[in-house]
Amino acid sequence: MTETAAMPQDKDPMDTIPPKPDTMRLVKRLIRQYLKPYMGTLGLAFFFMMIAAAMTAGIAQMMQPVLDGVLNVDSQGTMIWSVAAALFGTFFLRGISTYLHVILMNKIGQNIVADIQTALFAKFMNLDLAFFHANPSGQLISRVVNDVNVMRIAVSDALTGLGKSSLTLLFLTGVMFYQDWKLSLAAFIIFPFAAIFVALLGKRLRRVSGSIQDEMAGLSDLLSQIFQGIRQVKAYGMEDYERDRAGKAIKKVKNLNMKSVRTGNLSTPVNEILVGIVLFGVIGYGGTQVANGEMTGGQLGAFLAAFIMAYEPMKKLAKLNNTLQTGLGAAERVFALMDRDITINDPATPATLSETKPDIVFESVGFCYPEGDGKALDGVSFTAQSGQVLALVGPSGGGKSTIINLIPRFYDADEGAIKINGQDIKNVSMASLRSHIALVSQDITIFDDTVSNNIRYSKPEATQEEIERAARMAYAHDFISTMPDGYETRLGEDGVRLSGGQKQRISIARAVLRDAPILLLDEATSALDNESEHAVQQALEELQHGRTTIVIAHRLSTVQNADNIIVLDKGQIVEQGKHEDLLALGGVYAQMYQVGLS
Ligand code: ADP
Repeated sequence: MTETAAMPQDKDPMDTIPPKPDTMRLVKRLIRQYLKPYMGTLGLAFFFMMIAAAMTAGIAQMMQPVLDGVLNVDSQGTMIWSVAAALFGTFFLRGISTYLHVILMNKIGQNIVADIQTALFAKFMNLDLAFFHANPSGQLISRVVNDVNVMRIAVSDALTGLGKSSLTLLFLTGVMFYQDWKLSLAAFIIFPFAAIFVALLGKRLRRVSGSIQDEMAGLSDLLSQIFQGIRQVKAYGMEDYERDRAGKAIKKVKNLNMKSVRTGNLSTPVNEILVGIVLFGVIGYGGTQVANGEMTGGQLGAFLAAFIMAYEPMKKLAKLNNTLQTGLGAAERVFALMDRDITINDPATPATLSETKPDIVFESVGFCYPEGDGKALDGVSFTAQSGQVLALVGPSGGGKSTIINLIPRFYDADEGAIKINGQDIKNVSMASLRSHIALVSQDITIFDDTVSNNIRYSKPEATQEEIERAARMAYAHDFISTMPDGYETRLGEDGVRLSGGQKQRISIARAVLRDAPILLLDEATSALDNESEHAVQQALEELQHGRTTIVIAHRLSTVQNADNIIVLDKGQIVEQGKHEDLLALGGVYAQMYQVGLS
């Protein structure tokens, strides 16, 4: 059985995402599900934001005593030290409170990221194999890493913007009105123009951001495919071709990013021009007032300081919508994954299997892969007798792996029923079903971990003695003992590489340790060296002993010793019986046997 079935390349499965829900629903969901636990921290952050905002307004207001009391020669320097001390105090407080609210907001943002990533991963773990075949791993990684990070930036920026920028703006506006309310009203006429413009930009930006995340996901997926298939790439001299493909994908992401930057920053020149117009008017009108003695230089100075300082929070507020739209685009994709239906579930009242020698019965089973064309199995009925070996043979694509996929409920049969010990597997809890099964497949995953932990994967609570016993029974103990740190040697990418036969034996040791009554076996087709071949063969024979075994047989020896043989072709059973009977029948099996011998 191959666990990495071909993935459809021509279709982006993410485009099955439901229609865009409205902004308010997304925001509400974010708040309800993810922000709620951090309301206390958020309250504290807002408190420090308020202090920082008040201090900013204080600095603007202090321009009045600085200009009128310190810089004005008529004041005779009486206020110098008090004004200096007050300014120092204001900056000091602003610095401390800014630091604190930034830290608190980051704490919230990082926690939300971790919460979403954990929830998303937990969801992935519960989704069925069909989902993983439909969604390339690169795309899923991109959702967990990129999209969630974009959401974090949006949440932190939006909250900080709403809190700090609006408070700062409010206090600075207060200073302006305090100094000259008529001038203030005139200055704020620019607001509605800026707001309309920004709203228009936001829509466009959300669309671009969606495409960026799509292309990024595509790029991650492409890269992970190329790295995984690097042997093929080199063997067929496809380096240039792949360089080209990756280059194109990278360029696409770059271009989209540039489009987003151009759109997102369009508000800057527009706002600068608007502010320039207002400053022109304020200096013209205010300057005349000062010249006529209707206003002091300090008052106009404080007004100007407040207006110029208000520009920064205003800019931030204007960009807030953009940030929010980008984040909401990402949130939509993440939520779409979170809301996926889990099709293979425990029944409402699950039964438990408790049989040490179960039989497995297929009753007119029909099955079609979600992306498959046509039936992979059609009206398949057979019984795997308790404690016996049932061999599946037949041409490639006949349905052998599919039979093995249906027993642990990697997929659910569309028609008919599969019964273990008379119980329909759909009525049994998944945990109980899977605890009855050990699976030894062709492509074996060796994790970046010690030998012991790699074997322990099938039984986390196993003791070291149990692990060693399993390794001995799998004929793996000898080669493990010659490794630098024995059972503590690290395997995988960062550690020792194993030969094909050694990997097989580690996976057999896993199955031995599992000690499950049902054994699903996909014999290796790739050639092993003689010694490995013999050891693997012997280990497998011992493993089968006393268990109900279904084996996809590639070797004549396995087939001859099997208690029953099923010949599958195009999803249907074409012959069934013992080796001798099938030979005598002179049909498909007899032909295959002749070819195998010649
Ligand atoms: P065998 O193990 O005998 O080679 P399989 O059980 O793998 O055959 O395949 C049976 C049929 O199902 C084939 O037509 C194959 O193309 C199809 N198939 C197998 N896996 C998938 C999948 N993940 N998605 C779609 N079709 C699949």
